[in-house]
Amino acid sequence: MRIMAINPVLVLRRFRVGEIKWETAETFSLVLVPEDLKDIPAFKAGQWMYLHLLHEDGSTWAKSAYSVAVAPEECAEKIELGIKLRGEFTKRASKLMPDDVVAVQGPFGVFTLPLGQAPLVMFAGGIGITPLRSMIQEVKHQQAQGGERKVTLFYSNKYVEDAPYLEELMDLAKEVSWFTLIPILTQHAPTDWKGEQGRLNLEMLKKYPVIDSDFIYLMCGPKPFMESVRGFLKEAGVDVRRQLKEELFGT
Ligand SMILES: Cc1cc2nc3c(=O)[nH]c(=O)nc-3n(C[C@H](O)[C@H](O)[C@H](O)COP(=O)(O)OP(=O)(O)OC[C@H]3O[C@@H](n4cnc5c(N)ncnc54)[C@H](O)[C@@H]3O)c2cc1C
Repeated sequence: MRIMAINPVLVLRRFRVGEIKWETAETFSLVLVPEDLKDIPAFKAGQWMYLHLLHEDGSTWAKSAYSVAVAPEECAEKIELGIKLRGEFTKRASKLMPDDVVAVQGPFGVFTLPLGQAPLVMFAGGIGITPLRSMIQEVKHQQAQGGERKVTLFYSNKYVEDAPYLEELMDLAKEVSWFTLIPILTQHAPTDWKGEQGRLNLEMLKKYPVIDSDFIYLMCGPKPFMESVRGFLKEAGVDVRRQLKEELFGT
């Protein structure tokens, strides 16, 4: 008899909702704990998983892809996804209650933290922050073990109120010297705002020492944001085919 090996990433694991934390009015963190309390699937910072919402009989109602929003080291017993409310799927996900059962499949994806110590320049638009947050947390763990990597994050949102994890990222930037945060608001900024205002463009980028043929650029956000970033990085002389990695939250 031939025994076929099942690729572990294709296996659906049942998880229970541990917690739902609202990060902004439209974004929530979904904390999931494996129902069997065994280890969570091994993943790399930046990877994503399928979240399956289930019918009462345990079959899949629908699934959608979500980047794990925390570093693997934070995930011994639970995973955390950062989800922005959009249509029917996310509305239903936002109504999950502690102890409800969902299924998770994965990890998938190649948008992962680059190996080595090359400085990283990141561009996140809105909820595109999730895989980059995972990578930043991973770098933080690496720094604690003697790593020496510089990370600069350009983080663009419309308003302060709809910027997930902004406070946490600001705190980290104050706390450590390896991480520089350039928060950007495109619509309305409070009077005491110390970040950038307006759309991220070449002129704004050039204020910071972020162009170098040895740097690695990572971006995730809405399609027009990513197209614009790719365009001005090219204009600035970045070899985007070699130096730029990206994740598109599209279909
Ligand atoms: C690699 C990757 C990573 C991503 N990471 C993130 C992330 O970290 N955070 C984030 O917020 N988004 C992320 N996204 C986007 C996310 O996958 C969804 O596209 C987004 O959340 C859509 O939400 P929605 O409520 O509009 O979904 P919908 O368009 O409502 O539905 C999504 C799925 O559910 C099905 N569905 C919806 N309604 C029904 C119904 N009534 N009956 C049966 N099936 C139905 C749809 O057919 C579809 O398959 C990522 C996308 C990709 C590709």
